[in-house]
Amino acid sequence: MSTIFTKIINREIPANIVFENDNVIAFKDINPQAPVHILVVPKKEIPTLNDIKPEDKNLIGEIYLAIGEIAKDFNIAENGYRVITNCNQYGGQEVFHIHFHILGGEPIGPMRA
Ligand code: 5GP
Repeated sequence: MSTIFTKIINREIPANIVFENDNVIAFKDINPQAPVHILVVPKKEIPTLNDIKPEDKNLIGEIYLAIGEIAKDFNIAENGYRVITNCNQYGGQEVFHIHFHILGGEPIGPMRA
């Protein structure tokens, strides 16, 4: 089932898009949890991490290449940042189209507050 991220990919709703290629898009999170908070999203609708298939392995690599480019563009590569993907209920996933949160621009702190 499509989510709000497909609407962003299809330009049906606005977003602050910071990166795009044939397979991957990235945009600023609407409710940022850090000075830099960007969501990196495959255009393919994959609901959760559990749904990644062997044929998606290049796509997952492309996502991490995009993350590296975005981190350089936003000048957070050198100081560092965190990448998070939430999965299902216990992971706190709200949007069921996989996405990779980039959090940076300040010390992000321990994994569990
Ligand atoms: P999750 O909890 O699924 O890992 O994260 C979903 C993220 O999507 C949240 O950080 C939330 O703020 C963000 N989000 C939800 N709806 C929208 C939207 O319409 N636009 C943007 N840019 N971000 C959204």
